[in-house]
Amino acid sequence: MLPISLTSRRCWCIFSRRMSCRYDRALRGFRGEALRGEPLSRHTSYRIGGPADLYLVPADEDDLRGFLDRTSRGDFPLFILGNGSNLLVHDAGLRGAVVDVRRATRGICRDGEKVWAGAGAELDFLAAWAVEEGLEGLAELSGIPGTVGGALRTNAGAFGRTVSDFLVEVRALTTGGREVRLSRDELGLGYREAKGLKGLVVVSAAFHLKRGDRKALWEKRRKVLQQRSERQPLEYPSAGSTFKRPPGDHPGRLIEEAGCKGMRVGDAMVSPKHANFTVNLGKAKASDVWTLIRRVRERVRERFGVWLELEVELWGFPEGGLYTGGSPRSPGR
Ligand SMILES: Cc1cc2nc3c(=O)[nH]c(=O)nc-3n(C[C@H](O)[C@H](O)[C@H](O)COP(=O)(O)OP(=O)(O)OC[C@H]3O[C@@H](n4cnc5c(N)ncnc54)[C@H](O)[C@@H]3O)c2cc1C
Repeated sequence: MLPISLTSRRCWCIFSRRMSCRYDRALRGFRGEALRGEPLSRHTSYRIGGPADLYLVPADEDDLRGFLDRTSRGDFPLFILGNGSNLLVHDAGLRGAVVDVRRATRGICRDGEKVWAGAGAELDFLAAWAVEEGLEGLAELSGIPGTVGGALRTNAGAFGRTVSDFLVEVRALTTGGREVRLSRDELGLGYREAKGLKGLVVVSAAFHLKRGDRKALWEKRRKVLQQRSERQPLEYPSAGSTFKRPPGDHPGRLIEEAGCKGMRVGDAMVSPKHANFTVNLGKAKASDVWTLIRRVRERVRERFGVWLELEVELWGFPEGGLYTGGSPRSPGR
């Protein structure tokens, strides 16, 4: 009988070879960039995350559609990536393919008060562009470091505004590469969620933005950016707010009053500037951040009886299933 370690190593080799064949098959005809073992720390705002089996940057929308079509049998997990600004990726990385949709889906165009934005466009760029065009409705979202696609998936918001407030419709691809259009009402919008987008790859979105006063809009944008830099620890890598707001309260207040400000595990720290930000002081690992998050959550529960729900999304963590990313073929959070 073979020793267990040898048996499991053999099983792993067979599994890896099988996955490799599947990847090769899916990449036939792919025109974009394909990297094997790409460290995801290069693509997340946390600067944390192990390697992805496959890291793909489709050349254009057709290339993305073709790839989805070829992988539609669900041969391996897919993770759709925008700017990686709401993610904590496991140190061991991810089995499956990470599809960076930014190159394939960028661009902004305007027809009167209707604006179409590609999912890969930066939300902050769109906000600045709308301000310059004298269009209202997005200035409050200035400084959110995500893409339009990521912002829609998470229904991102700030200063009393969400990205979906002036949304008209979303164009998306199914995991089989088929195009679908969803109206705002079909998105299942909630606080930091758009359930109707689960399992879809957003390609572009249309907004209806009313004309406003350009000078006043620039002033609003300036104030928003100033408040962000005053309140948030932008000097350190992070993924923004760690926890969602519990009903009627603020996680920042609860965390601070539970005495967690400045708490550390390795190079992961609860920011002394904004307690709901868990920052990377330089060499933090995903395991450090995760340990710290759990400690903070436990302390808040002990002190206030409130269980804080994560706003940051976990990719590749065993908690709640093998893959918890909001990708088309993963169970979602
Ligand atoms: C300093 C800082 C400040 C922040 N401030 C705010 C804030 O004020 N308000 C706020 O809401 N958030 C904030 N965030 C969090 C983050 O920027 C937002 O959640 C953002 O919208 C995520 O967009 P992304 O492109 O980075 O998505 P990613 O982090 O890459 O992905 C997030 C989710 O969206 C999915 N996704 C991405 N692109 C697509 C697509 N094209 N189609 C389908 N699914 C897709 C991913 O699969 C994943 O499930 C902040 C983050 C940081 C680092």
